[in-house]
Amino acid sequence: MSEPPIIIVGAGPVGLTTALGLDFYRLPFALFEDDAELSLDTKAGTILTRTLEAFRRYGVADQVLAKALRVDEIGDVERATGKARPSVQTALLSEDTRYPFVINMPQHHLEPILRAAIEERRPGALHLRHQLTSFRQSDHGVIATFDTPDGRREVEGSYLLACDGGRSTVRSQLGISVEGESPDERVLLVDVKVDLDVANPRDYPYLAYFADPSEWMILVRQPHCWRFLYPLAAGMPEPTAAEFREKIIRFVGPVDDLQILNTIVYRIHHRVAREWRRDRVFLMGDAAHLITPMWALGLNTGILDAISLPWRLAWVARGWASDALLDGYAREQRPVAAEGSGEMAQAARKYMAAETASVKAMSGTAWANAATRRPIAGPSASGIASPTPPCMPATAARFGCTISSTTASWRSISPMSAAGQTFPPIAPASSTASFRIGMLRSTGDCAIDRCSTSATGFVR
Ligand SMILES: Cc1cc2nc3c(=O)[nH]c(=O)nc-3n(C[C@H](O)[C@H](O)[C@H](O)COP(=O)(O)OP(=O)(O)OC[C@H]3O[C@@H](n4cnc5c(N)ncnc54)[C@H](O)[C@@H]3O)c2cc1C
Repeated sequence: MSEPPIIIVGAGPVGLTTALGLDFYRLPFALFEDDAELSLDTKAGTILTRTLEAFRRYGVADQVLAKALRVDEIGDVERATGKARPSVQTALLSEDTRYPFVINMPQHHLEPILRAAIEERRPGALHLRHQLTSFRQSDHGVIATFDTPDGRREVEGSYLLACDGGRSTVRSQLGISVEGESPDERVLLVDVKVDLDVANPRDYPYLAYFADPSEWMILVRQPHCWRFLYPLAAGMPEPTAAEFREKIIRFVGPVDDLQILNTIVYRIHHRVAREWRRDRVFLMGDAAHLITPMWALGLNTGILDAISLPWRLAWVARGWASDALLDGYAREQRPVAAEGSGEMAQAARKYMAAETASVKAMSGTAWANAATRRPIAGPSASGIASPTPPCMPATAARFGCTISSTTASWRSISPMSAAGQTFPPIAPASSTASFRIGMLRSTGDCAIDRCSTSATGFVR
């Protein structure tokens, strides 16, 4: 009998990327989407470095890059005076990633690329017009029920991955609450067709943040248009098309032609699900965390989930790890969403509204640390070993952590190196090594089990 598939509910960016991750590890899966087509809504527009690393691992980076606009500088400008603060130069990341830049690409251009890769590699794995209505768990799996145009359908799977977005049916049926706040403020997004490069040249970075106490603005050059994001105060009515137009002209000045492609008004949230796992069911992406869409941390944080869970499921399926490895998913990703991306996005919102002069989570050369890295153990300065080292930072791609003096044990299928020593690949058994100060690095799949160490560092 063939192995039951891992059921993924929701073909948004997180469900699609998770499917590619499961394919990468040769795990059976079936992906179910309520709608007849992928979403055409105007949502995320910027994709960060770590997401590109995930796409590379899952074999779609080149296809994505071919359709995207590369951005090497992120502008930070005081709107009232036009005074530019030091911009973020993404080349700072050259030592850390193959992709020392971010890209601008609308979410509805990205999703078809991911879908095409799934359909090429696993024909028939994507099931549109399948709305999950309920599910139940057994000792060995999950049975999910879907409404389809041909009636009710039951599917038996080994796990259920809920990538069904912010209003997750799975999360609500599990009775899992989301903790945090939804400020009154809303955000206006306007996509505009206007030539600010040649016919009406302007010197804006292709991704720029204009801070202002009364009306901040984010400018994102998309491959096919210019995108403007503004706050909309509580109680204010949504602007008319004429008002949108007037707002934009006020900002860019007179232009020869300007066409509004679409507008959207959305609530912002800073909320994280209390639990991310219930036995064989996992919450991922917006189902697990709703993050203020500032600094492109919504979709991109969801992709971090899609980096973390597939390899864990593969390790358990292959018998290389016990079920406990799956608990590491929430242990690793929840703080990234709540304290990394979530706090950073909230701080960014305040910074943009000039409610604060600085953003601790994103300053100077440390700006890249906040979103995708977190300390792996307690402070090294004291030299005290972390009592229960939260040292499960492995990613499906590279990882690196700065370790001040340590004994680490791990499993890996690629060489590891630290402090000038190279350790051979070890799989499935674990290996232990002690070394003094250095970077423990892997260029492939790896899981760290324990780090009895005093260490500082960041998972990347
Ligand atoms: C205006 C706006 C701008 C944004 N800008 C950015 C940005 O610049 N950068 C960034 O990183 N993020 C941004 N975000 C956030 C980003 O869009 C989301 O974080 C991202 O879409 C989450 O992906 P997801 O796959 O988890 O969920 P979703 O994209 O919501 O996908 C969920 C999918 O599940 C399906 N589904 C739901 N219920 C069921 C069911 N019962 N059965 C079957 N299928 C179901 C839905 O139809 C949908 O296709 C923005 C969001 C908005 C609204």
